[in-house]
Amino acid sequence: MSGPAVALTVAGSDSGGGAGLQADLHTFAAFGVHGTTAVTAVTVQNTVGVTGVHEIPPQIVADQIGAVVEDLRPTAVKTGMLASAPIIEAIGAAFRQHGIGRGGTIPLVLDPVCASMHGDPLLEPDALDALRGLFALATVVTPNLDETQLLVGTRDQRDAARALLALGAEHALVKGGHGTGPRSRDLLTDGVTEIWLDAERIETGNTHGSGDTLAAATAARLAGGDSLPDAVRAAKRYVTRAVATSYSVGAGHGPVGHPP
Ligand code: PLP
Repeated sequence: MSGPAVALTVAGSDSGGGAGLQADLHTFAAFGVHGTTAVTAVTVQNTVGVTGVHEIPPQIVADQIGAVVEDLRPTAVKTGMLASAPIIEAIGAAFRQHGIGRGGTIPLVLDPVCASMHGDPLLEPDALDALRGLFALATVVTPNLDETQLLVGTRDQRDAARALLALGAEHALVKGGHGTGPRSRDLLTDGVTEIWLDAERIETGNTHGSGDTLAAATAARLAGGDSLPDAVRAAKRYVTRAVATSYSVGAGHGPVGHPP
């Protein structure tokens, strides 16, 4: 009997359970996909903020990727918090070795996580160049506007997409959720076709993990065989439901929900 599709997240742990690999696993489960993990860092975190980061040795990160790919054969991979330049370089080598991302057979959703919503850094400042270097492997890179400002120096969605594609990404999904206005509009483009994904902006303080959830949902649908535009449309619908079912837990920002 064949089992469910398998997806791999390469991400950090959020001890508060709202973001990071915990959000990714909740999302994979909601899509009926078997989730696997390559842990890059353990954060000391709750709903109020991040107070510590312990990085996993780069070789152990690469070995987790190899162990999962060789046995469980994921059909999509997602990256989140990558922590440092040496970890990113080890991940890039493992992806190339195992056919993950452009030039390989396994699609790669690259969420360029730089900081938490509280502004706590999740990437060492000297790792930005290494992260930009990884874009050449991305099937799709999914920054928010704070991340485009940091990575390519603009908050204009079209300009940012152009710059991300110039760095080698196959598609850019530039999210408008960190902008202003009554609608949240995301731009998906490969440089030829533009798809605008539009959703109502839901006002809530509990959006912790929403970016991770969008990227993980995209990977889950790609793992199941969707085309990228279909996967992104389904993921956008899912994250809108996730934000609508967010809840309060702890003293700070609560997480998005993960409805089945
Ligand atoms: N902690 C970890 C380990 C993460 O990977 C992320 C986002 O990717 C966050 C925290 C931040 O999530 P948010 O921006 O929703 O606070």
